[in-house]
Amino acid sequence: MIKVETPDYPIYFGVEGYASLGAYINEKQYSKLLILTDSTCNELCLPHFLAHLPTTVPFEIVEIEPGETAKNLTTCEGVWAAMLELGLDRYSAVITVGGGVVSDLGGFVASVYMRGIDCFIVPTTLLAMVDASIGGKTGVDLDAAKNCIGSFAMPKMVVVDAQYLETLEPRELKSGYAEMLKHGLIYDESYFNHLKDIAQVDFGDIETLIYHAVSIKSQIVQEDPQEQGLRKILNFGHSVGHAVESYYLTNPNKERMLHGEAIAIGMVIESYISTVILGLNQTIYQGIKESIQYIYGKQIFSNSEVEEILTWLKFDKKNRAGEIRMVLLSKIGVASYDVEVTKELITKGFEDYLK
Ligand code: NAD
Repeated sequence: MIKVETPDYPIYFGVEGYASLGAYINEKQYSKLLILTDSTCNELCLPHFLAHLPTTVPFEIVEIEPGETAKNLTTCEGVWAAMLELGLDRYSAVITVGGGVVSDLGGFVASVYMRGIDCFIVPTTLLAMVDASIGGKTGVDLDAAKNCIGSFAMPKMVVVDAQYLETLEPRELKSGYAEMLKHGLIYDESYFNHLKDIAQVDFGDIETLIYHAVSIKSQIVQEDPQEQGLRKILNFGHSVGHAVESYYLTNPNKERMLHGEAIAIGMVIESYISTVILGLNQTIYQGIKESIQYIYGKQIFSNSEVEEILTWLKFDKKNRAGEIRMVLLSKIGVASYDVEVTKELITKGFEDYLK
């Protein structure tokens, strides 16, 4: 069976992973399991999950609303109240079956319930498989400020089963693909080169592509689990990306913007800034921009929208003493963190993105 071993927990790939999950749970003799999911995954993913999990431990299922707008403390409160009501104690555990919203929220809920109980993650979106389920960052948004409340809490195990992707909308698949491109841009040029021309990518072998992304992320997290330094590079594209995402969350009249789509915009703009501050080669930048805009298209932003997006940058967790700090690239595969960037340069980045 394919497996990535990290110091804190194993990541299993394929349906065989459920045997390991079942064995772990049975051996631990948890008093009860909470399976946390959202309403879409409850219908589309839970039947497959339950059919494959060999466990005799009693379980309860709690579902939340799907999507980013449910990733908040009000939803957490509802889940905690349900856990109490359903009799989950300190010897219980949570299994999240869903995308990044379910794993981020479920991981956080578990990390503070009765001062912390075990959590297992079964990601069902590409984004959660290649990124959100790995590395123990949990959390929820505070109003539209992304991931403002949260904890570092490593799961006990992750089972990546690509079969779930069969029901995932193509747009959601592309959203996850953005984080794979990011892993390549910050850490592995050959992986980025393999992915950059999406028309040439063999999706019949998606498990191998996912495995590669998971290996990159796990390696980075292992070196710096608490994000004191190197791990920050995983936030490439996320300073601008999160600001764009927050802007869309607070403007419900605008069409929905998925996490990966916002990060894709952020990666283009932060690559432009990289040319100015770190000397990223212009031709390389144009190549990154072309690849990303080919996959995700180009969003149109008016000047006033850009101004409003810039106001969201102040909530970025990488900032220090009011200064905007970003992850930038000097080359594909080589990223620097904590680079100070002005709002003027970010505005120029938007101008170039729109050209
Ligand atoms: P999501 O969890 O909202 O899932 C996207 C949509 O797909 C939802 O509507 C969901 O119901 C549906 N869905 C899930 N699995 C499905 C399946 N198999 N078939 C059909 N539909 C399915 O979003 P996401 O893109 O998975 O995750 C985005 C979140 O992840 C963001 O909140 C982001 O901040 C977070 N994130 C966290 C980390 C981390 O390190 N913790 C890293 C990257 C992103």
